[in-house]
Amino acid sequence: MTNATTPRHDTKNPLTCCPRCYKAELLGRAMRSPIFRYDKVDADERPLSYAVYHGAQHVATLSRRGASGPTAYEVRVVAPGGEQELVAGSLRDARALAEETYTVEL
Ligand SMILES: [Zn+2]
Repeated sequence: MTNATTPRHDTKNPLTCCPRCYKAELLGRAMRSPIFRYDKVDADERPLSYAVYHGAQHVATLSRRGASGPTAYEVRVVAPGGEQELVAGSLRDARALAEETYTVEL
């Protein structure tokens, strides 16, 4: 196949297909208010962590740090250009930050 005018888009995995599909998918999600799922990560050597999923896609990781305060939680959001590292003062803030960043990020 060398026909460049009919590119095939991976509609089952739009986030990893191409920037155009990624953007379109996020726009669609923003309108439908994406539902996120949280899985507690069981790992002895790591602090309390939650993996954030949108559908089957792992989109962020929330980790409790040692100290409390405005940086008590580390928020890593998976983005096409690389991971974004953010901090939050509470689990609630960390979740809101992750969802917001994932939804608008490009
Ligand atoms: Zn595409």
